[in-house]
Amino acid sequence: MSAKRIDGKAISAQIKEEAAKEAAELKAKGIEPCLAVILVGEDSASQVYVNNKKKACEAVGIRSVAYELDAETEEGELLRLIASLNMDKTISGILVQLPLPKHLDETKVILAIDPKKDVDCFHPINVGNLQTGGKGFLPCTPAGIIALLKRSGTVIEGKRCVVIGRSNIVGKPVAMLLLRENGTVTICHSKTKDLAEICRQADIIVSAVGKVHTVTADMVKDGAVIIDVGMNRNEAGQLCGDVDFAQVQEVAGAITPVPGGVGPMTIAMLMKNCITAAKLQNGLL
Ligand code: NAP
Repeated sequence: MSAKRIDGKAISAQIKEEAAKEAAELKAKGIEPCLAVILVGEDSASQVYVNNKKKACEAVGIRSVAYELDAETEEGELLRLIASLNMDKTISGILVQLPLPKHLDETKVILAIDPKKDVDCFHPINVGNLQTGGKGFLPCTPAGIIALLKRSGTVIEGKRCVVIGRSNIVGKPVAMLLLRENGTVTICHSKTKDLAEICRQADIIVSAVGKVHTVTADMVKDGAVIIDVGMNRNEAGQLCGDVDFAQVQEVAGAITPVPGGVGPMTIAMLMKNCITAAKLQNGLL
């Protein structure tokens, strides 16, 4: 039997619609959400991501301003720009597109962003809030994964959840969010022994590794829910995930495709965070 497909395009469209409604409500109160995006250098993938963010803002009714800085920009100049955006009352959220050119210290740059404007949820204060269950921003891709699970009817509470990958951007925060939803969470990584055996116990598997065929059908329990975060290229150069989709869908209960699964959720959750930022700036949260 073939698994149910979890449709990231449809679910992300719902979330963007909800954000658009909230943006309109804020505007009716005289509050205009605005995202400032900073891009340093000419990395082509980053340019595509920044353009997609601008387009999403437009569609949702969030104003966006882009700062495209030269690849040789000095750290001081970037930090001064962030400081001025922190002070600017018309700016609700600030996003610095990563990765930065090598001469710039990413940690220093993230620390410079006002935590109340940190829509990527990378600032240690917001990472701490995630651990302690505080209000405010949630990291975009991990929050998108939780939304995919909940809105496709998967109950997380009481379930055995296995997260493969422990990066600060996906693995660790998604594990924390699954725990907040009362899942029982195991985090696996490159040094994990018996990955297949651990995965076979799972009701929910989230794979965030970045390698094709990390999850194969023999690692999946009948009816398990599979979330594939990976974005890889197969031998034919096509975009694919970490999961052997063709085989695993025969065993799983539900599965996200790549593309069209987790991918579209990240920008949708960013839009949600821009609304959260505007609310935080205006004492509405
Ligand atoms: P990352 O920083 O490279 O982390 C990869 C993780 O996988 C590491 O924790 C690593 O373990 C673990 N790992 C590597 N080989 C493994 C193996 N054989 N078995 C078990 N674990 C293994 O990557 P990331 O930034 O988290 O991204 C992961 C994937 O998600 C990438 O394909 C990326 O493009 C994709 N992604 C997609 C979105 C989206 O919006 N769809 C967003 C972000 C990322 P160690 O810690 O031991 O090295």
